[in-house]
Amino acid sequence: MTFDGGARPDQASLASDQASLASDQASLASDQASLASDQASLAAAGAELDAVEAALVRLEDGSFENCEVCQAPIGLDRLTAQPLLTRCPEHT
Ligand SMILES: [Zn+2]
Repeated sequence: MTFDGGARPDQASLASDQASLASDQASLASDQASLASDQASLAAAGAELDAVEAALVRLEDGSFENCEVCQAPIGLDRLTAQPLLTRCPEHT
């Protein structure tokens, strides 16, 4: 008795199901990656918002010009370039 070398129909069907499952898993992984990316973006936006709010507080109490570590002047030129700076060059 010899085999013709071809897959039996049920095996072909199983292979097709497995391919479909693999595709679904790839899609799920992609969705998860996308979700992780969205969460990272959200976290980054939240952190930036926190920094802006902190900068506004520092602006209100007049401490925005000084390093939060040593109180040395940060420098208006540096603040102009990066308004959210909270530290002098030495403590950045
Ligand atoms: Zn400093």
